[in-house]
Amino acid sequence: MSELAVQTAAVASYQKMDEAETLERITAAKETLGARLVILGHHYQCDEVVQFADFEGDSFGLAREASKLDAEYIVFCGVHFMAESADILSKPHQQVILPDLQAGCSMADMAQIDQVEDCWALLEEITNEKIIPVTYMNSSASIKAFCGERDGVVCTSSNARSVYEWAFARGDKILFLPDEHLGRNTGVDFGIPLEKMPLYRPNDPPLTDDELRPLAAAKVILWKGCCSVHQMFLPQHVDLRRRQHPDVTIVVHPECRHEVAQKADEIGSTDRIIRVVSGAPAGSTLAVGTEIHLVNRLAQRNPDKTILSLSPHQCLCATMYRIDPPHLLWVLENLVEGRVVNRITVDEQTRRGALSALDRMLAIS
Ligand code: 13P
Ligand code: SF4
Repeated sequence: MSELAVQTAAVASYQKMDEAETLERITAAKETLGARLVILGHHYQCDEVVQFADFEGDSFGLAREASKLDAEYIVFCGVHFMAESADILSKPHQQVILPDLQAGCSMADMAQIDQVEDCWALLEEITNEKIIPVTYMNSSASIKAFCGERDGVVCTSSNARSVYEWAFARGDKILFLPDEHLGRNTGVDFGIPLEKMPLYRPNDPPLTDDELRPLAAAKVILWKGCCSVHQMFLPQHVDLRRRQHPDVTIVVHPECRHEVAQKADEIGSTDRIIRVVSGAPAGSTLAVGTEIHLVNRLAQRNPDKTILSLSPHQCLCATMYRIDPPHLLWVLENLVEGRVVNRITVDEQTRRGALSALDRMLAIS
């Protein structure tokens, strides 16, 4: 049986369990494991899971936390690329566990290593300039290793601007993977004109000379990839919220389209969004362009303010949502029994390359 089939069969009985019992048993398993266990929770996780997190954070904060931890088991309540990064940054005695193996990321899947290698070969043919590959944290370990092996680096939405500074001190252009929006929004913030940031579409037929010219002249080559959640926020949502609440502050994540970011009052990583909302005066209204679990939590934790989603529709990350109390309980009770299930590992060669790209990022930020 595959690991996923084992998970599906085993979790089925946990899903039938009464919610109160599930939460009680998670608390008990956590207590039994004590300091041998640490639970990391991304801000987009649901409240039922976040309440058990020893550290709650954005992808940068959690990666930094993972690099400092000593616990034997790191249970990562987030998505696959985050658990991979935690494994890369972890010490040899540590094991990283993802409660649901199906918690992937559609954006990370948009850059496959063979496509990136083809792109790199093409860019090397059309330019002699030094290209620095920069990959967003939301990418597979093999893409991070690709960057690490070519003097490149990882970035997150918290530190993308500093990473651009670092990269332009070492090279002439950036190949930015895999989120076109974060790449473009950061470039605009850095003062790069839009026409100097062409898109590279991985699945296009061979490019004509007219299509290659902008790539050769680019400062930043943007990989055509995006977050299916943040892509749903549209400029008309900003107009709608401003019509409904003339004094609203619009705060968006940089994975949103440039047209949305341009109309917003504040742009920032999930951690920055939290700081902006927490720091706003009582009585203020904020419309937030990010995943709905974080928006709802901000509303609960700031009862003196009106916090709305920027979109009138639910923008939910379906893969983050896969991590739920039954999956968490299943992995924890297995640990109590001495069995490690759903371990996420990265092979040694990939780990070495990816670690150099991650270490460079941690040194910059
Ligand atoms: P940050 O945690 O870097 O803000 O990214 C948001 C996200 O989409 C994580 O998957
Ligand atoms: Fe991926 Fe977007 Fe979900 Fe983050 S919110 S895990 S980028 S699909």
